[in-house]
Amino acid sequence: MQDLPGIVITGASGRMGQMLIKTVVESDKAKLVGVVEREGHDWVGRDIGEAMGGAPLGVTVTDQALDAFAKAQAVIDFTAPAATVQFAKLAAQARAVHVIGTTGMTEDDIAQLAPCARHAVIVRAGNMSLGVNLLTKLTEKVAAALDEDFDIEIIEAHHHHKVDAPSGTALMLGEAAAQGRGVALSDVADRGRDGITGARKRGDIGFTAIRGGDIVGEHDVLFAAAGERIVLRHLATDRAIFARGALKAALWGQGQKPGEYDMLDVLGL
Ligand code: NAP
Repeated sequence: MQDLPGIVITGASGRMGQMLIKTVVESDKAKLVGVVEREGHDWVGRDIGEAMGGAPLGVTVTDQALDAFAKAQAVIDFTAPAATVQFAKLAAQARAVHVIGTTGMTEDDIAQLAPCARHAVIVRAGNMSLGVNLLTKLTEKVAAALDEDFDIEIIEAHHHHKVDAPSGTALMLGEAAAQGRGVALSDVADRGRDGITGARKRGDIGFTAIRGGDIVGEHDVLFAAAGERIVLRHLATDRAIFARGALKAALWGQGQKPGEYDMLDVLGL
């Protein structure tokens, strides 16, 4: 039997890290070969199954990312921007596919991925779910069909631990709407309204972020005109959808040419 692709998960103790570990362990298409946490984390040196409160899985948590990556075909990384930039360099060195779910990356962070993508496959998406990637396509089409009489607003809601706003998904949807309209999002984005903001500018794309409780992720794209509104909506109720998408990306990346890809490439949308 052919060996299954070996996967390493970074940020093992995180909400997504733990969901990714479960997803890979339950998959019959890949095997878990390593889990990485930051230096000094109290999970380092422990069996990951036991650290997560379950049965042993025979994989020890390490803080030596390069050693772990060198034994893997793919790294799935939902951590933080600074960590992801470092992991991209190590994944490129190890020639492992790097699936990046981390959001909140600056343009400078993203620019640092380009040299890494000359050596290895990078798949990066602010949202790895099939539903949201389909929603970006719908958003682009609707935005292209309607003129600026329709104000576009993107409203997102997430749990109270989330550190960045607007969400990576909201920005993906904003990019899709801007593309449909044939404009650059940076020229029309209206973020963080507070106080006497003046009237809404025609053609702007507005963002609103709600934070509370344990909301996994909700996104509305609102097209509002005089007398009517269209709302495109995606509701995530289980983080497993992101983990399944990320694993799909890690498997898809095997055998692709080095370069930067997104979930639309993976899903063929
Ligand atoms: P979380 O629970 O806070 O987990 C983040 C993990 O990353 C933790 O294990 C953390 O370790 C680790 N980490 C942070 N900085 C690190 C560093 N410098 N070096 C090594 N490890 C580091 O967050 P989460 O909810 O799982 O989300 C993680 C990321 O995924 C966020 O950017 C989130 O927006 C994104 N996300 C993306 C999607 C998608 O589909 N693309 C879906 C859901 C979430 P410590 O605990 O030691 O800090």
